[in-house]
Amino acid sequence: THFGFKTVQKEDKEKLVGGVFSSVASKYDVMNDAMSMGVHRLWKSHFIDRLDAGMRPGSSRPLDFLDVAGGTGDIAFGLLDHAEKKFGDVSSTMTVADINPDMLHEGELRFQKSKWNDGSDRVKFLVQNGEIMDKIEDNSKDVYTIAFGIRNFTDVQAGLNTAYRVLRPGGIFACLEFSQVENPAIDYAYQAYSFSLLPLMGQLIANDRDSYQYLVESIRKFPNQETFKGMIQKAGFYVPEPGYENLTFGVASIHIGVKL
Ligand code: SAM
Repeated sequence: THFGFKTVQKEDKEKLVGGVFSSVASKYDVMNDAMSMGVHRLWKSHFIDRLDAGMRPGSSRPLDFLDVAGGTGDIAFGLLDHAEKKFGDVSSTMTVADINPDMLHEGELRFQKSKWNDGSDRVKFLVQNGEIMDKIEDNSKDVYTIAFGIRNFTDVQAGLNTAYRVLRPGGIFACLEFSQVENPAIDYAYQAYSFSLLPLMGQLIANDRDSYQYLVESIRKFPNQETFKGMIQKAGFYVPEPGYENLTFGVASIHIGVKL
């Protein structure tokens, strides 16, 4: 393996991922800011603007959003905010699903303090494995989002197939995820940063070097933009060309698919 890291066995991955996110849940937001030097916020708001989702005035029914691996709720609340500010949409629903109850709990705490906690029942939190999602019906959602979550799935293709299953025809799949830097010189600097500084920051801020080492390795092992695009198509989605958008040289990318 590169840089002397042990490769995580597939069988151990689910258990390990659970541990990683339980141990970082409460420090998750602080760590995110520190590690990405705030850039993850820009990526997330770009993702939300780009999607531009919300019930258009005059349309016949509200939308059903599903944010998978929703964790602390950044994307879910951002989408609801956008829909309200841009389209005056105050009736679309949001389901936040995450495999880890501790991460979901952080999201619920934030929800309780938010303006959406108005007794209207628009926002729901569900502990669900995104590969299966047995509590989400077929053809029941209009927008499926996942940000920095799918690379943690044991079986990424199963996750994409499930996304296809739960979306209605016409529904949109949108994924924001770490990706591969295409320029070799920039990639060299990026790898050096992520393999040395990130675990160190993990240790200093969260006292948890191993979890952040896992995160770095999971980023390196995730399929590149073209391969991931192919997997989205394999799940059944129509992928509008060019299929993805690189952010910050490809450190992250946005993939979109449409269920026709
Ligand atoms: N979407 C949030 C954000 O952008 O801030 C959280 C991202 S966090 C890096 C990754 C999340 O994926 C964690 O909350 C973790 O529990 C969740 N996760 C990992 N594997 C999952 C799975 N198989 N199904 C659902 N969620 C999963």
